[in-house]
Amino acid sequence: MSDSAETGVDAGTDADTDEGDDGGPMQVSSPDYHSENHTAAQTCGWTANALRGEGKCYKNIYYGIESHRCIQMTPVVRCNERCVFCWRDHQGHSYEMDDVEWDDPEAVVDASLKLQKRLLSGFGGNDEVPREVFEQSMEPRHVAISLDGEPSLYPYLPELIDAFHDRDITTFLVSNGTRPEVLRECDPTQLYVSVDAPERHTFDNVVGAMEDDAWEKLLETMDVLAEKDETRTVLRTTLVKGENMHHPDWYAGFYQQADPDFIEMKAYMHVGHSRGRLDRSAMPDHEEVVEFTERIGEYMPEFTEVKEVPASRVALLSKTRDTWVPKLKKDSEFWERDPVTGD
Ligand code: SF4
Repeated sequence: MSDSAETGVDAGTDADTDEGDDGGPMQVSSPDYHSENHTAAQTCGWTANALRGEGKCYKNIYYGIESHRCIQMTPVVRCNERCVFCWRDHQGHSYEMDDVEWDDPEAVVDASLKLQKRLLSGFGGNDEVPREVFEQSMEPRHVAISLDGEPSLYPYLPELIDAFHDRDITTFLVSNGTRPEVLRECDPTQLYVSVDAPERHTFDNVVGAMEDDAWEKLLETMDVLAEKDETRTVLRTTLVKGENMHHPDWYAGFYQQADPDFIEMKAYMHVGHSRGRLDRSAMPDHEEVVEFTERIGEYMPEFTEVKEVPASRVALLSKTRDTWVPKLKKDSEFWERDPVTGD
């Protein structure tokens, strides 16, 4: 998965995970990694921060996600790409699937809820966490299918998204775009696809795809996104200095093919196993992220809004000022139906 990392601690990378022994996000090989069969979940750093009243993730600011009620999970810990900026240990990420016995979507939802409860149970006795906030966290309303691996390799992904929606849980799906035929059938609340290069040469250097046709598949995925009417679509680029921060005009042309609702530009974070591949100096600072985003925006005049969250070194391009998911607005039926706070 070409997802970057969000620890929710320092600069809020997008490795939304617990710290592993090496100070980076926890790896699949760790005995503390929380999984059930092929479903894995980890506490996002922002979930922990929100429980303690220490701030919410940028997806709260942009879209209305309540971080303490968000499950960060994946139905697949394997990946068919080897992104240079990825915090994961590529050794543990073979993508052959022949030996996997797939759980059905309902079982994956059950496992996700169970893992989340187990992961957060310790906060119940934490003096820094108000009781009512802890009780809310025990009833998740969001899932970020973004933890690890490439979720579109799970054969029942469209049904899994529906199963989460049936439980009144919103879905943010992050994919590397190598399975357009799967994404065509998926209608999450918000569909993210990673675009980490404006052209093929950079793509080959930065993404390290295992499949020869990954670039062509990504192009096809852009067409799939352009066809989506109901699903909110987001293109997401992890910016790595010296690797892919060039040709803003080419990025703009590429993005336009997908006609996305939003474009998120996020700084690479020097954590986990990426430290063995990239130097610390490959991390752009927030000003560099915003400046590159604005340069792209010059070629996309319909994207009139630039929003930024310095703590996460992320900038958002949008056609509209209001970027919240409509159903997540405070007076919505979604929150009225809430099992903890609703009427
Ligand atoms: S959306 Fe969820 S998993 Fe992602 S940063 Fe926010 S709280 Fe963490």
